[in-house]
Amino acid sequence: MPLIDAHCHLDDAQFADDLDDVIARALDAGISAIITAGADVATSRAAVELAEKYASVYAVVGIHPHAAHAFDDAQLDQIRALALHRKVVGIGEIGLDFYWKENAPRAIQERVLIAQLDLAVEVDKPVVIHDRDAHAELMAILARRTSPRGILHCFSGDLAMARAAIDRGFLISFAGNLTFKNATRLQAIARELPLEKIVIETDAPYLSPLRGNRNEPANVARGAEKIATIKNVEPRVVADATTQNSKMLFRME
Ligand SMILES: [Zn+2]
Repeated sequence: MPLIDAHCHLDDAQFADDLDDVIARALDAGISAIITAGADVATSRAAVELAEKYASVYAVVGIHPHAAHAFDDAQLDQIRALALHRKVVGIGEIGLDFYWKENAPRAIQERVLIAQLDLAVEVDKPVVIHDRDAHAELMAILARRTSPRGILHCFSGDLAMARAAIDRGFLISFAGNLTFKNATRLQAIARELPLEKIVIETDAPYLSPLRGNRNEPANVARGAEKIATIKNVEPRVVADATTQNSKMLFRME
């Protein structure tokens, strides 16, 4: 099956010892592209270095809401410079996270997000959005800006939000948590959405389908199989559609 892992973190320390093997297993599983995401300037740079090292790896670069406190014009300039790299296919992961109380105040998170949405428009690349407990605030920002296209990574909203995002040019990205037994609400949303608007990711090393284990890009196949079961179609149909969706949005060969 042709597959793309639309979002993961290959620079994570959990991959430090065996990344060559992880990538080899992904290629064996049919994965043609892996998009690894930065979360601050240092990890964005690391993502670009991995994209330079491995043909099948692409990068998105950006400042995650967890790192919004330190954001300034100098950081924006560094992300802009990285964004121009030929293997950087988007700006991310960026967004809002109101779950963790130690994160920057909401107003700061929103300012950092808006600056990077503008950057995405400027460099003409899509965005990878992180949203935790900030659904309404995120949709308000996407509605009032000349918003770029992108994906809502590890989608956690409801069906109405998914449809509103799709109307704004977004794709809905389902992560490994779609395969969890208690994910019936998320699975119901996946059932309703057209395959043309869905992409699949692992968010590795997080959200392993085998809970408690390290996740890796090869497991994106489990996501395709789960969506196939939910939609009562062949896994190959899901793999083809989601691969095409990611390729078109991120403009990968
Ligand atoms: Zn992530």
